[in-house]
Amino acid sequence: VKPDRRTRDKADRATTDNCLDQRSLRVMFKLLQQGVLTNIEGCISAGKEANVYYAISPEYGHLAIKVYMTSVMPFKNRDKYMIGDRRLRHGVGKRSWKKVSKWAEKEFRNLLRVAQAGIPAPKPIKLKGVVLLMTLIGEDADAAPKLKDVDSDDAELWHSLYWQVVGNLRTLYQQCRLVHGDLSEYNLLYNAGQVIWIDFSQSVEHEHPQTFAFLRADCRNVNAFFSRKPVRILSDQELFEFITDPTITVENCERCLAALQDVANGREQPPDVDGAFQGVHIPRRLEEVLHYERNALLLRQGKLTQHDLLFATVSGMSHDLKGPKRTAGLLSDSGDGDA
Ligand code: ADP
Ligand code: MG
Repeated sequence: VKPDRRTRDKADRATTDNCLDQRSLRVMFKLLQQGVLTNIEGCISAGKEANVYYAISPEYGHLAIKVYMTSVMPFKNRDKYMIGDRRLRHGVGKRSWKKVSKWAEKEFRNLLRVAQAGIPAPKPIKLKGVVLLMTLIGEDADAAPKLKDVDSDDAELWHSLYWQVVGNLRTLYQQCRLVHGDLSEYNLLYNAGQVIWIDFSQSVEHEHPQTFAFLRADCRNVNAFFSRKPVRILSDQELFEFITDPTITVENCERCLAALQDVANGREQPPDVDGAFQGVHIPRRLEEVLHYERNALLLRQGKLTQHDLLFATVSGMSHDLKGPKRTAGLLSDSGDGDA
């Protein structure tokens, strides 16, 4: 007996509201049939935008399968992340299997870049439309907890975890040329003393017009979380400047990190929440700084502070705006770098 229209509609919707659409299911069945997977064991996470399952593969071992939802609305708001990404210039505009598979593709490619740069993250294995296979983070079959669920008051541990994140924020920006865009204790996992980075579908490249706004929000989220842990943290601005400073190199990065740790640990009080920093406009390039000459003058007259001049670090200028910085500011006595 065929279900009548009303009940059939209801049944269809039930499968798409909190579960997978027909096409994703067919992809999963095919992966089982082909023997890529021997077993899909269960659900690790059921989110609004994706479900993540745990599966076993004879070839790759324990896997996480991320299946993007094609039937929910949040994707509507995601166009803002796609602007300026050359790789994804087609297929923006309507929500569909095709469009959602662009998101999966974006995450797959970003995961490849991230793995190449040595940032701890799942290794992408296979992509079939909206179905992404990656290595499972965890001990064997046990998926690793999110950073937010790590229950410890071990100061040494939190110190290590914070500075891992700080270093990898810079690597992600400078080497992968990416900003995560949704970084928080929800998209960082904890496994065996390491912070593992996940969920790169909304990450943006440097060309994106809002790159700095996303990076600043990432810095704020990370600092807000770690400020509740037993560790001395940087201010949002110090963190942002460390990530974007073009005068820091692969060679001097370790020394800069050590200098920053001294700054953080040497303070009597933890830094204030950087409300002002979160609000200022950060120009991308020197040409964008309309009143460059005037700023330089005001700075010499003491009417502006270096804090007002964020673009100095971002653009590679010395903080007195006299010219390009020659060494990493963090490593010089004056804190300026062109001594
Ligand atoms: P979304 O937040 O868009 O739903 P995520 O990529 O953040 O998707 O995945 C949701 C959750 O699934 C994560 O918070 C994490 O707990 C789990 N998860 C995702 N990928 C993996 C993985 N490779 N290994 C272990 N757990 C994972
Ligand atoms: Mg997530």
